[in-house]
Amino acid sequence: MTTILDGVATGATIRSEAAEAAATIRNQAGRAPGLAVVLVGDDPASQVYVGSKRRACEAAGLASFGHLLPADTPAAELFALIDRLNADPAVDGILVQLPLPAHLPTRELLERIDPAKDVDGFHPVNVGRLWIDEPGFVPCTPAGIIEMLRRYDIPLRGRRAVVIGRSTIVGKPMAGLLVRESATVTVAHSKTRDLPGLCREAEILIAAVGRAGLVDASYVAPGAVVIDVGMNRVSDRSLAERLTGGDEKRMAAFERNGSVLVGDVDYPAAAPLAAAITPVPGGVGPLTVAMLLANTVTAARRRLGLQAAAGG
Ligand code: NAP
Repeated sequence: MTTILDGVATGATIRSEAAEAAATIRNQAGRAPGLAVVLVGDDPASQVYVGSKRRACEAAGLASFGHLLPADTPAAELFALIDRLNADPAVDGILVQLPLPAHLPTRELLERIDPAKDVDGFHPVNVGRLWIDEPGFVPCTPAGIIEMLRRYDIPLRGRRAVVIGRSTIVGKPMAGLLVRESATVTVAHSKTRDLPGLCREAEILIAAVGRAGLVDASYVAPGAVVIDVGMNRVSDRSLAERLTGGDEKRMAAFERNGSVLVGDVDYPAAAPLAAAITPVPGGVGPLTVAMLLANTVTAARRRLGLQAAAGG
């Protein structure tokens, strides 16, 4: 029997724990944890992400401060905004929604954020802290995956893990977290030879690639745990039918929108082999925003010098 790892349910639990912690902090400190979200330009996908982060904050009783700036905002203005947010005592976390318009120096702006408020975990200080086992902030998507594996009692210690993808926001921090959990980790990427053969050695297989359905049955060892980070829109009908297994609801969405959301894993082919697997949608996606709330609560606690409640 394959266990379907339910990111919607796990994400909801993490969010309600963040809400409880936020209420405690409000009682102790007289203010809620606060997250500032900076969005530059009118990229529709970014607007959707920022909207869902804002609603998640509000639902959990966190304060959210939106800074929506026009696409042609000069870099100097953004540096000045980040400086103000760094100095603002009501702001515990700062998130700059990516991608930024091309004229802006993304790295320099991310590095301007106070590491203590860097709830996305992109600042080099936090990247470094992950690798030297010091408390910091870890990017939300890989942090959410570890949290879900822990909550499903999936052991990592001593197990062979393969991460496909070496991006700064998913693949590399995922590898760092798995090493921290005492897994034996291989990071694969576009130059890796015999990717299916390598992946078949994995007891834990994490796909963070951005290629619809790349991971088919030839990548999956019987009994592996398969985590699908990919979020890909497919507009080819036969590919959509294959990757959704012809699911009626999802194909109806395909007819309406001209595309459907799928992962990097060919779910119908891989799921029967796997011991546990995340679906797309409803797997890794909901964990990312949940962990953003958790990280903001942690930032508030650290900044206010408060202890986490037992177990929290
Ligand atoms: P990215 O920066 O484009 O990185 C993709 C990685 O995959 C790169 O390391 C690349 O290798 C590797 N790769 C590409 N094609 C490959 C192939 N054919 N075989 C082996 N490796 C290959 O992407 P990302 O930001 O990490 O995101 C990955 C996916 O996760 C995307 O679908 C994204 O939408 C999704 N995502 C989801 C969430 C969520 O909340 N669920 C969050 C973030 C990202 P090279 O380094 O050699 O180019």
